[in-house]
Amino acid sequence: MISYQVIEHGQPLQANFLSTPQPKGTEVLVRVTRSGVCHSDLHIWEGYFDLGGGRRFYVKERGCVPPFTLGHEPFGIVEAAGPRARARGVKVGQKRLVYPWIGCGKCAVCKAGQENYCVSGTRFLGVNRPGAYATHMLVPDPRYLVDIGGIDDSFAATLACSALTAYSAAAKLPAMGAKDEVAVLGCGGLGLVGISVLRERGVKRIVACDVDDAKLAAAARLGAKRGVNTRAPDAAQQLQGIAGALDFVGAAATATLGIGALRKGGRYVICGLYGGELVHPLPPIAQRAIGIIGSYVGNLQELKEVVALAKRKKLKPLPVETRPAAEANAALEDLKAGRVLGRVVLDFAGVEA
Ligand SMILES: [Zn+2]
Ligand SMILES: [Zn+2]
Repeated sequence: MISYQVIEHGQPLQANFLSTPQPKGTEVLVRVTRSGVCHSDLHIWEGYFDLGGGRRFYVKERGCVPPFTLGHEPFGIVEAAGPRARARGVKVGQKRLVYPWIGCGKCAVCKAGQENYCVSGTRFLGVNRPGAYATHMLVPDPRYLVDIGGIDDSFAATLACSALTAYSAAAKLPAMGAKDEVAVLGCGGLGLVGISVLRERGVKRIVACDVDDAKLAAAARLGAKRGVNTRAPDAAQQLQGIAGALDFVGAAATATLGIGALRKGGRYVICGLYGGELVHPLPPIAQRAIGIIGSYVGNLQELKEVVALAKRKKLKPLPVETRPAAEANAALEDLKAGRVLGRVVLDFAGVEA
């Protein structure tokens, strides 16, 4: 197999020939055909998350040590399966989306179906287990394979992180009344999916927020009621009184803006990982009874719900650009420089393994 690996954080990925693993027990070997390129890949590639105030969280502390294979939006074809996977109906040739947010499977949190919040040993594919920037990947159990029916392969890949993250974040908002406004902070790939998801959840008044008018226009086409360019000096006033906010950026500026604009009882959900820190006076959190909650990717059941929405064409496909796997480094550089509209998906189908 060929794997595009981080050899040194921040340096170009290297294409390495590795021996293809043989699936044992419940394991399934997937021949990767598509692999989405996500913003959080940039942080893992660079080796840290920015905690603000000059502090960093280094990814090696959670088991991501080079040489390492990125890629947590995996889509492919079953190439081989261990005997216990075959006994459960896995067949060579099945096209499947892979759920990458795998926990230990044994702790109470995992057993309650929240493997993405596992407390005793995550096995996240492309984060601390080998991911999908490769021709092959091992999936520990067939339960993590999701049938996507007739959805386009590249679009399907993006469901495993970007759409799932937006879906799970939106699910953390309380029920909204007809006049309640919900702000979408950041209208990149995730924010645009977030607008589709909010509309599907019956939110009528969506306020798109971004620094880029072109992205605000894209948000309006997807159904945002109004847009706020957050560079405007009166952006905070324009947002005042919102009932909810989904922060897909996760920077100090977006957090301050979103939390500050909440009406009493409002809720701010953060899933973006841009970085920085939040300093907020405590009494108003109680006095205004606001909620500040984090959301990280989503669980397996939520991914199945996202796939069901996509099959019913309720998620508008983002602009998705499929590029040859050999352009993985250029794709990361373009994402870093803000040159990507929507999502880039790497095509591994044409790579000779
Ligand atoms: Zn991601
Ligand atoms: Zn667990």
